[in-house]
Amino acid sequence: AKAELTAPVEAFLADLHARVSKVTGGSPADYIPELGKVDPSLFGIAIATVDGQIYEVGDTDVPFTIQSVSKPFMYGHALQRHGRPTVLKHVGVEPTGEAFNSIVLDEVANRPFNPMVNAGAIAVAEMMPGDTQEQRIGNMLDLFSSLAGRRLGIDEAVFRSELETGHRNRAIAYMMLNTAMIERDPNEVLDLYFRQCSVNVSCCDLAIMAATLANDGTNPLTGKAVFDAQYVRDMLTVMNSCGMYDYAGEWAYEVGMPAKSGVSGCIIAVMPGQIGICVYSPPIDTQGNSVRGIRVCQEISSEFELHAFNNR
Ligand code: GLU
Repeated sequence: AKAELTAPVEAFLADLHARVSKVTGGSPADYIPELGKVDPSLFGIAIATVDGQIYEVGDTDVPFTIQSVSKPFMYGHALQRHGRPTVLKHVGVEPTGEAFNSIVLDEVANRPFNPMVNAGAIAVAEMMPGDTQEQRIGNMLDLFSSLAGRRLGIDEAVFRSELETGHRNRAIAYMMLNTAMIERDPNEVLDLYFRQCSVNVSCCDLAIMAATLANDGTNPLTGKAVFDAQYVRDMLTVMNSCGMYDYAGEWAYEVGMPAKSGVSGCIIAVMPGQIGICVYSPPIDTQGNSVRGIRVCQEISSEFELHAFNNR
């Protein structure tokens, strides 16, 4: 597989954006009421290379909340801070084939299956270091800011909306308190989890975050080393098997790049050593993935032969 990202890329992206703009179907998530207020026609595509070039088309600077695309990065940070054995005690690496918000733990260890489903991500959120909640929130924002290469903040309206309506996530957190997978006050852990999901990013920010993973953990814009390469490998592995909700298998078959999607309508995909991609388009399908986002990634993968198991 080799990507030849030269000037024609821009023309390709412009044409792709125009064509996929005609794709309809899906609708913005509204189980978090604030997310349902978005303009469904927003549509951006950004590709960042490991040497810091950015190719972009459409609504690439419009802010939206990162949602579940925060999960692989929080997982990488937990690995970086606590090491594999500690993290693996609290969250596994097994795909569930179930929806992102499923309330299942594995029956042997009582562990959440993987860090890409809400249960696993909530367990990972508890591992954010800090003596006070304020410090933990600050550390979380520092992490995402260093990944984007600029200062990021929280969308307070989305955060409050999640806090008020996230009863299912509260149920998951209390169940994990019951099995000692989390130990602190579940409401404090959820406060951080809802805030990490409510971090405001743009399509370009997420392309740079994805390119940081493509670049072995070093942000290609700022040169800052955020993750060790050994943990990037772990992050990409769980993204590959669990990153696209219960569509992960089909995605791996067709697109063949580690990826993560969020219910705000964003998808990131990573071609290690080469590029990070972000597509943003709020209408999502019944599995929670951006309809146009899937289409764009399929086309980019086939145009540049990016499937991980291409043998050409
Ligand atoms: N904050 C959302 C939730 O917990 C994230 C969902 C997602 O993007 O998958 O429901």
